[in-house]
Amino acid sequence: MTDFELSEDYQILSDTVREFADDVVAPVSAKHDAEHSFPYEIVSQMADMGLFGLPFPEEFGGMGGDYFALALSLEQLGRVDQSVAITLEAGVSLGAMPIHRFGNDAQKQEWLPLLASGKALAGFGLTEPEAGSDAGGTKTTAKLGGGEWVINGNKEFITNSGTDITKLVTVTAVTGQEERPDGSVKKEISTILVPTNTKGFKAEKAYNKVGWNASDTHPLTLDNVHVPEENLLGTRGRGYANFLSILDEGRIAIAALAVGAAQGCVDQSVKYAKERSAFGQNIGKYQAIAFKIARMEARAHTARLAYYDAAARMLAGKPFKTQAAIAKMVAGEAAMDNARDATQVFGGYGFINDFTVARHYRDSKILEVGEGTTEVQLMLIARELGL
Ligand SMILES: Cc1cc2nc3c(=O)[nH]c(=O)nc-3n(C[C@H](O)[C@H](O)[C@H](O)COP(=O)(O)OP(=O)(O)OC[C@H]3O[C@@H](n4cnc5c(N)ncnc54)[C@H](O)[C@@H]3O)c2cc1C
Repeated sequence: MTDFELSEDYQILSDTVREFADDVVAPVSAKHDAEHSFPYEIVSQMADMGLFGLPFPEEFGGMGGDYFALALSLEQLGRVDQSVAITLEAGVSLGAMPIHRFGNDAQKQEWLPLLASGKALAGFGLTEPEAGSDAGGTKTTAKLGGGEWVINGNKEFITNSGTDITKLVTVTAVTGQEERPDGSVKKEISTILVPTNTKGFKAEKAYNKVGWNASDTHPLTLDNVHVPEENLLGTRGRGYANFLSILDEGRIAIAALAVGAAQGCVDQSVKYAKERSAFGQNIGKYQAIAFKIARMEARAHTARLAYYDAAARMLAGKPFKTQAAIAKMVAGEAAMDNARDATQVFGGYGFINDFTVARHYRDSKILEVGEGTTEVQLMLIARELGL
């Protein structure tokens, strides 16, 4: 049995990011949310702090840390600003991590130092208009000829794909067909690196989202995009499996972000319940309010233990897929439930966008959808149970 006390290094990192989140991020969060503007100045400061390089080796410009260090940072950012947290999450765990995990030496040399520095961002192009939860239904094609891949298709909802510093999107594409032992045929899906300055690549108009307004999300068009054959990432035909394994890890990161949001709602509610009075006393004195906040704390705490456990298993080299799915599901639900309860504690002010809890209310819904919906997590858990 291990305890869940943070080591000194983890604690220092968590405290440092917490201070940055409170002092630098929080003061401009409402503005970026209202203006739907990408927080370039915050991203640049996170880059200077080394946050985009946290889990990557020093030889590739990283900080030599690990995935739990990334998760702790995401929790602290998620408390105050989910858009900033998802920008980091997607930049590291979806954008750069596939190259770290599956890239050859030349690809790592070319891309990792740049992405780990935070001076450039990469996107993860899996989802398509007709392939979300069922991402194997990808219709984008990549045909090899004359030493080049020619890619055609559309991607949907791709985070960090259209900022001024986005340099790369890795896309899944059908590169052929494989015959199964029983004679049936299945799609061969591979992943290919597409620099965003390649002719025929276009990030279309940004979505008008319910939340995560300061995060960058676009549909992508790939119209006869030519890239060199060497841009294949990992083994041909393993692209879908490789991307699913990236999502297994990513669920720990998203869970951490969601725990941050859930905890942010608790912290804001405690403060407000001590200040706001009604009928002659602070509203926190009413058991209806105190119990609501106590339940919120219990949700945040249990979801945190779930992601700590999944991360510990991952770092120890043990199977963690089911635990990551559980953590992602309970943390996403904790964030959504806590955001709903926090806005209730704030009364009418909870409905005013200037208040962090109102932003959490809009932002948290996607935590039950992105990187695998709640139903997809339940499918993974049920499958593990043999159902
Ligand atoms: C803001 C934002 C950022 C995103 N960033 C990225 C990104 O960077 N890269 C990327 O590739 N994608 C990204 N996505 C896409 C996201 O991962 C998908 O939206 C998500 O996986 C769900 O896919 P879908 O929207 O196609 O919904 P669908 O798969 O069509 O699902 C619709 C509903 O049906 C349910 N459902 C589907 N299949 C089953 C089943 N077998 N059993 C029970 N219920 C089922 C789902 O749970 C859901 O409730 C992003 C999405 C958003 C909104």
